[in-house]
Amino acid sequence: MRGFSTLIMLALFAVSSVVGQVPTNIFVTKAEADQILKGNYNPLNYTATQVISDHHQIICDAISNVSTDSLYSYIRKLGTFHNRNSGSDTVSATTGIGAARRWAHSKFESFSAVSEDRLLTSYLQFDQVICGMSEHRDIFTVLPGSDTTDKSIIIIEGHIDSRCEDGCDITCKAHGIEDNASGSALVMELARVMSSFTFKHTIVFMLTIAEEQGLYGANAFAQYCEDNGIQIRAVQNNDVVGGIYCGATSSPPSCPFEDHIDSTHVRIFSQGTFSQLHRSLARSIKIFNQEQYAGVASVPMKVRVMNQEDRTGRAGDHIPFRQRGYTAIRFCSANEHGNADASNLGYTDRQHTVRDTLGADTNGDGVVDSFFVDFNYLRRNSVLNAVTTTMISEGPETPGIQVANNTSGITVTISSQTQYSAYRIGVRPSDSTTNFEAVYTIQDTLAFVVPGIVQGSTYFISAASVGSNGIMSIFSEETLAANASVSSNPGTPTVFSNQLNCNIVGVEKRSDNSAEIASLTIEPNPASTQIHVVVTIHQDRGINNPAFRITNITGQVVYHKAIILEGESADSIVNITGLAAGVYICAILSNREIIQSKKLVIQK
Ligand SMILES: [Zn+2]
Repeated sequence: MRGFSTLIMLALFAVSSVVGQVPTNIFVTKAEADQILKGNYNPLNYTATQVISDHHQIICDAISNVSTDSLYSYIRKLGTFHNRNSGSDTVSATTGIGAARRWAHSKFESFSAVSEDRLLTSYLQFDQVICGMSEHRDIFTVLPGSDTTDKSIIIIEGHIDSRCEDGCDITCKAHGIEDNASGSALVMELARVMSSFTFKHTIVFMLTIAEEQGLYGANAFAQYCEDNGIQIRAVQNNDVVGGIYCGATSSPPSCPFEDHIDSTHVRIFSQGTFSQLHRSLARSIKIFNQEQYAGVASVPMKVRVMNQEDRTGRAGDHIPFRQRGYTAIRFCSANEHGNADASNLGYTDRQHTVRDTLGADTNGDGVVDSFFVDFNYLRRNSVLNAVTTTMISEGPETPGIQVANNTSGITVTISSQTQYSAYRIGVRPSDSTTNFEAVYTIQDTLAFVVPGIVQGSTYFISAASVGSNGIMSIFSEETLAANASVSSNPGTPTVFSNQLNCNIVGVEKRSDNSAEIASLTIEPNPASTQIHVVVTIHQDRGINNPAFRITNITGQVVYHKAIILEGESADSIVNITGLAAGVYICAILSNREIIQSKKLVIQK
């Protein structure tokens, strides 16, 4: 019990120190990213050549392209920086938080290079004394939305910092694999995969700093959003999302017993009395999962909507956003290895210790062969995040409702966002858990008498809109209907059938390592008469029949030439006087597959 009370005190200290200490001098280092976050940009400057915004196609792409190999490569790399504590080395090229964040920044830039430079990567810098360090940086990359009439952004984030038993130990081996290389890898992989697509809303992929000392990096970003009037549609915090094993301890509500394995559930934590949108978002994600993903996943995931904002005595990066009124939730593995009470004698679990490593070498050959993160589980949690963001971005607006309880029954009336032809009504008896008992769908009407009501019982009612593309909005805050006046007959709840047909989707395969396989430089750009093209290819990466190609906006090839390498590079002048003004795609091909591409603007 001593350990438990220590934990509560630590948690209280963490929360109070967020309130007590204020970050100062908060700014975004890249001016262009700053303007995009504020919605001050022309979307046409950031539109993909081939605009794909169909949610089925995006989800299918996430299912096929979110890669366990990529996730593994990021996590392995994050483990090599030795210590990612917020107070650790910022100068070394190989160890400490500085090297880690520069590597993450360069990865985001390499993803952008194969996505027509549509990701803008930056730091959010702020001053606050944390573990002896006074200046800190979150790392993020922004995918500008296509519609700035509603400037609200969506944030997918995870903290990149790590810790050992002592929260400011900057020399221990704080690999921080489950906590939280797993969430960081998820964020990075989604930046890579989702940046091919065009979303209505701006999406921010963010790796925060100083979560372990008191959620400081997330707090600084939330403060920056508040200071600049930036609206946020949702924050998806991912913290501890790859592990499937229970330790001897865990933070409740969690593990049933030590060594229990669970690779099919993910928990969503949110603050929520009945009138809060955070919990409504969590319930909506449960439905998105059921209706858009579980049916096509090889191993279906199940979402647990949790009845508290975080595990008992613990906290996460979604909280500073929620504290400022932004809708925010946390994804977290069903099982955790430890309760972070690492100062307690006898604590043998991994969380917040030097033991939070990639895995074990079980046969003594010096190679890790048994992993503590399940990469397939992490992959599914990544896809679920992509599904969630896609639905939130492309879906309609959440309606408002009025609920009347009288002799004609409990009647729900859609009172705002009345422009849609269909709505869904979620019903939850007051004695139920966090989940809906039933969801009904109404068509071409704004009023609905709730079926299946028992006279004298109390219900929570909420509603979601359904857009013309079939996407459901986030459910509204719940309204209480106390002491039902009359009973009503049973009704027919609806579940939207999964209509994904991923076989018909032809998205060109991209490789995470593409930026390292080949690089492409085009100058000048925009150009009018000629361009200077420099191609570098690393031969050991299995490139065959390399070629340089230019296609116009309709996909027609207007220039094609084999690349003759001198050593690893080739260098040539291409005459473009015969090409009309417009946007073109320049690509390096290997056996006719694109391995690197850049957008070229021709002006006349
Ligand atoms: Zn964490």
